[in-house]
Amino acid sequence: MTDCVEDAKLEEKHASKEFKESENVAEKYSALTSTKNSDVNMNVGELSAAFTAVPTHKSVKKQIQFANQEEKQEFSKFPTKTGRRSLSRSISQSSTDSYSSAASYTDSSDDETSPREKTQVNSKGSSDFCVKNIKQAEFGRREIEIAEQDMSALISLRKRAQGEKPLAGAKVVGCTHITAQTAVLIETLVALGAQCRWTACNIYSTQNEVAAALAESGVSVFAWKGESEDDFWWCIDRCVNVEGWQANMILDDGGDLTHWVYKKYPSVFKKVRGIVEESVTGVHRLYQLSKAGKLCVPAMNVNDSVTKQKFDNLYCCRESILDGLKRTTDVMFGGKQVVVCGYGEVGKGCCSALKALGAIVCVTEIDPICALQACMDGFKVVKLNEVVRQMDMVITCTGNKNVVTREYLDRMKNGCIVCNMGHSNTEIDVASLRTPELTWERVRSQVDHVIWPDGKRVILLAEGRLLNLSCSTVPSFVLSITATTQALALIELYNAPEGRYKQDVYLLPKKMDEYVASLHLPNFDAHLTELSDEQAKYMGLNKNGPFKPNYYRY
Ligand code: NAD
Repeated sequence: MTDCVEDAKLEEKHASKEFKESENVAEKYSALTSTKNSDVNMNVGELSAAFTAVPTHKSVKKQIQFANQEEKQEFSKFPTKTGRRSLSRSISQSSTDSYSSAASYTDSSDDETSPREKTQVNSKGSSDFCVKNIKQAEFGRREIEIAEQDMSALISLRKRAQGEKPLAGAKVVGCTHITAQTAVLIETLVALGAQCRWTACNIYSTQNEVAAALAESGVSVFAWKGESEDDFWWCIDRCVNVEGWQANMILDDGGDLTHWVYKKYPSVFKKVRGIVEESVTGVHRLYQLSKAGKLCVPAMNVNDSVTKQKFDNLYCCRESILDGLKRTTDVMFGGKQVVVCGYGEVGKGCCSALKALGAIVCVTEIDPICALQACMDGFKVVKLNEVVRQMDMVITCTGNKNVVTREYLDRMKNGCIVCNMGHSNTEIDVASLRTPELTWERVRSQVDHVIWPDGKRVILLAEGRLLNLSCSTVPSFVLSITATTQALALIELYNAPEGRYKQDVYLLPKKMDEYVASLHLPNFDAHLTELSDEQAKYMGLNKNGPFKPNYYRY
């Protein structure tokens, strides 16, 4: 009990410190977001002045050097892209055999020749790219145009800032999923003055026709769907190692590009003004580097910004869970018994979508707070053990490992659908199903029937990898929120006066999250209420925000 009280006191102390910091930040931030009907007129000067990101811990003097061989080896053990989702709400919507419409077009070419062996030239005579087939450019352009329709906030940022060219002189090397939505981001950066060289952060997720459209428009893009491991690093190298061109900004999703530059071309960091990273994995790696005193440029952690966590994890999953399940199984949801493991952001999104279609949803949780939220939202909180026999679907969203073990799989009923919306491929113990007495039958792309000796079948989706990323598409609108945040983070790091940022990892300030959100409000014709002077004084707020302290949880 005493410990609890002490913990609470500590937390309170911490919270009030954060609040003070944010008040200071609020003072510094001048009118960034107008509250008038989300009218977000702002020039880059204002943006830059208003946006001083929050460091996550003290920076130390950094050098790119390894203390010893062991450390060097540790660094080289960096995770690879296969099987990883940069949970950035990135964008991966296709894996090799995805049903996504984008993927099906992408795979239409019968040409088995490796793009590395082809000589291709775009209509302007440039061959500084490597894509599957440049002739698909026109089709890719249409895909990009479709994505643009639902990414109007990013487009509006493009329109507002393109006169000013806040990225003039920026040489951005990027490593993200290459899809129609990232193409909109890349073309926004170009419109704002940047030169871009781009590669894919995942060997499966490139939309070939989109890569072709980018190459045709003059972006040096090196990516195709189904790259080998060797191709993957070759493409990254082609983006970084160029005669007469040196990157001064890095936009990464997963940390592989950053890793490559550290490992192979550390001198590039002399010119780099900052790294923008959006994935869990990449951000984790940046914190490690920072802690070890080896981060040699400022970095922005986009992954933990409110506009990513609260929109990507919740709304993207709410929108894509049903799509993934439908495309793979044609299941009807009404009246189905479903258990969702984990009631965090992803779990909440999944539960709400399933409930809306009439499924009977129960939840498992380890955390009493999330469990109580689930109860208050009308879901029964159970132990998997208690319900597993009756369930029609078991969905994991915990970020944990071995949540669904063989013991549970053995007890599931015939026809139970099992899938993962949480972390990588760790949540369902798929390896435990690879035993001689069980038969695996691939019935569709990404759908396996695992058959027990008595004939019982469990329907395993995407082999336990992320269902929505493997089997469905994700909404452009949500990606627009993350992409806008990335673009603003790049603009800020590129334009920040010397000394504003040290060699540290920074979180986006609340003000910036509010700005990104406000850019998306006109889509809904949402009208914000303005604080009166009296109300602002009463609340102790600046009328233009930030409207919440840093510790506010939304
Ligand atoms: P979160 O931390 O908000 O929620 C996870 C919840 O699972 C927590 O409430 C935790 O208490 C609970 N939990 C942990 N272990 C458990 C167990 N053994 N049994 C039951 N509950 C358990 O995280 P989140 O934002 O919901 O993300 C969850 C995972 O989904 C993460 O790995 C995240 O990276 C991933 N994610 C997936 C997508 C996607 O598109 N599929 C999008 C964003 C995030």
